[in-house]
Amino acid sequence: MKITDNSVVSIHYKLSNDAGTILDQSTENNPLIYLHGKGNIVTGLEKALTGKAIGDTLDVTVTPDEGYGNREDYMIETVNRSMFEGLDEISIGKQFHAEGNTGPVVVTVTKMEDDDITIDGNHPLAGENLNFAIEVVAIRDATEDELEHGHIHGPDCQH
Ligand code: ZN
Repeated sequence: MKITDNSVVSIHYKLSNDAGTILDQSTENNPLIYLHGKGNIVTGLEKALTGKAIGDTLDVTVTPDEGYGNREDYMIETVNRSMFEGLDEISIGKQFHAEGNTGPVVVTVTKMEDDDITIDGNHPLAGENLNFAIEVVAIRDATEDELEHGHIHGPDCQH
């Protein structure tokens, strides 16, 4: 069985940046399970996995274009502290959900100067090459429910 659109795929992965720092990885008994072909993982990785089989291992470098995008200055803005009224304490590194031009985005507080709060709506990994080491551990066909919902159903998902 090979990975095609609508396969449910389990992978072990290790993600590092160009400096070799590990940013994220699956743990031994918890592979990442996702529905292939629906944009549930970054485009570049999805492309590289198409046609792969159980047991295949691959190293993939995903550029920002097919990863989390390039770092865009327009997504960084400085707002007044009063915008955060009613929210929990603000500190650098804190993330908030906000309404962006194209839908909800997560913004990160990157700078605080008196009442000026700088927030950055870029993905934390925008502008970075993503270096994945992948092992394909399982592949199955998606169920009709899963295809309708665009995501997999497992023990944790009851909808
Ligand atoms: Zn569902």
